[in-house]
Amino acid sequence: DASIHLTVRVARLGTRFVLLLAEDRTESVRLEAVRRDFVANISHELKTPIGAISLLAEALEQASDDPEQVRRFAKRMSKESKRLAHMTQEIIELSRLQAADALTDPEIVDVDRVIQAAIDQNRVAAESNRISLVSGAASGEHVWGDEGMLLTAVHNLIINAVQYSPSPSRVGIGVTAHDDVVEIAVTDQGIGIPEEDLDRVFERFFRVDQARARATGGTGLGLSIVKHVVQNHGGDVRVWSQPGHGSTFTLRLPRATADSPTTALPSKAR
Ligand code: ADP
Repeated sequence: DASIHLTVRVARLGTRFVLLLAEDRTESVRLEAVRRDFVANISHELKTPIGAISLLAEALEQASDDPEQVRRFAKRMSKESKRLAHMTQEIIELSRLQAADALTDPEIVDVDRVIQAAIDQNRVAAESNRISLVSGAASGEHVWGDEGMLLTAVHNLIINAVQYSPSPSRVGIGVTAHDDVVEIAVTDQGIGIPEEDLDRVFERFFRVDQARARATGGTGLGLSIVKHVVQNHGGDVRVWSQPGHGSTFTLRLPRATADSPTTALPSKAR
């Protein structure tokens, strides 16, 4: 890597402002390692469904005179290709989020609307597992951000809560606001996460239980997408969990209030 990475800072020295330049080689080396890891992980993760599809195709060739077997293999092939499509879509989403450090065009987003849309997206899956999605009264809160990205983040938390919960059970979605922060919490009564894995669940491709995640079609990318969305919003995501009892994930986002200074907004949001 022959390029030079410079960190530029403006510092105040008495009454003068000076520019500080520093070569940021360690950071660039680290980022390069992260990128290489990501590519290696992607190749590894894609091999599983691709391998399965190719084996199933071979099996299908052999089984061509048994209609029942043909149907079974075709069904599994379709499941694996859906998984492959889903994973590809999440990889693209994650790369897009990683490329952008911050939102370029934040707008005022209605939190209740985002939550309602995320609940609607998960209603069928929840109902088929007898899981009730419970949200409180409308909060009337707004945040600065990108509605589509925030919907993805809340959707990912709810789909996980549904996926890792027993049937029947409840998933609660609540909103609270303090000063300049809006907090969205998703609480489940599910299997929970062991303490030693709490930090790791936000890592790309990390799953507490590989075998189970494979069976449920988990990619290990959902929470890492959530983390990048909130980081791009200048917020954060936290998790509390008690194995065997449940988990709570909270998103903390910059609050937009009626007296937010509209002159500080990007023109599109004014
Ligand atoms: P996945 O696609 O596997 O769900 P995520 O990045 O969304 O990937 O989550 C990473 C891992 O964290 C999951 O595989 C699961 O082990 C664990 N996890 C996430 N959400 C929950 C939850 N609500 N309850 C229990 N475990 C969870």
